[in-house]
Amino acid sequence: MENVIIIGTGCAGFTAAIYTGRANLNPLILSGNQPGGQLTTTTEVENFPGFPNGIMGPELMMNMQQQAEKFGARIEYTLVSSVEKTAEGHFDIKTEDGTVYQARSVIIATGASPRHLGLPNEKGLIGHGLTSCATCDGAFYRNVPVCVIGGGDSACEEASFLTKFASTVYLIHRRDTLRASKIMADRALANPKIKPIWNSTVSEYLTDEKGEVRAVTLENLVTGEKNELELKCVFVAIGHVPNAGFLGELVDKDENGYILQTEGTRTKTTGLFAAGDVADHVYRQAITAAGQGCAAALEAERYLADIGVH
Ligand code: NAP
Repeated sequence: MENVIIIGTGCAGFTAAIYTGRANLNPLILSGNQPGGQLTTTTEVENFPGFPNGIMGPELMMNMQQQAEKFGARIEYTLVSSVEKTAEGHFDIKTEDGTVYQARSVIIATGASPRHLGLPNEKGLIGHGLTSCATCDGAFYRNVPVCVIGGGDSACEEASFLTKFASTVYLIHRRDTLRASKIMADRALANPKIKPIWNSTVSEYLTDEKGEVRAVTLENLVTGEKNELELKCVFVAIGHVPNAGFLGELVDKDENGYILQTEGTRTKTTGLFAAGDVADHVYRQAITAAGQGCAAALEAERYLADIGVH
């Protein structure tokens, strides 16, 4: 029986592992399908305190992993499919390969994944002209038209970034005003390479003979008119979905699926804690996720002390 299992290897998960490791709780981390979390898909991180010259996202995550391992954390590369609380008060954590891990306490740090439109061929086009990460894929689309779907800060940030490479960046938004903060919206709209397309959605992805995106069907939501727009890549920036579906009734969630914390990082199930983007739709920063990972570790430590584990 493990003292604490941490599910997720982003900033929240690794910070929880560093703290529970230093508390001699010998944490086990279950990695999920994106080891290192969202920062592994970014380039330079300029706002993580302690790195005045910035640090590359993957390097920051590797450092966190090494720091956690230094204090005894172990990592299994596996995907959790369900968590249950037993009548005896511990947790059974099942993974997709059928393994069952047992733990006295669990920290959920599974983060959030990019949301998609839900069009039929969308999943298969990821990596073939459809992506949610401009910093990862933008440089592949030099001097060609691309589009960003969304009207929030992410969409504006991605669109502005993509102007370094693309010939034109269409910013396709379903309304006629952006949701983004004024500074980000003004910056995007002032950029001559960014062409907003208002009140519109993408209703179809069209591909070439190689199966790569070659165009989208644009649908004007006011007039119902449809047009084909030629481009080489679609960047979907319509928010994120928290990875909390595998927890069933163990947690309460808000209307967008984010885990509701009761007090600090506690959830409605005793011994089960949630930290980072899986519970935080407000700040969603590496440093706030790390802070919550720390808090969850301290609360798990206290819980374990209360049930007699020292
Ligand atoms: P967001 O603020 O939730 O915006 C999502 C956008 O996608 C909205 O414009 C929304 O349209 C649109 N959308 C949602 N579902 C859609 C659908 N099915 N079809 C078409 N459009 C759809 O998400 P975000 O931009 O990822 O930002 C999330 C949080 O991170 C925010 O708090 C943001 O401020 C923060 N953030 C900050 C920075 C920064 O400061 N550097 C950068 C990125 C993100 P509606 O507007 O019509 O709802």
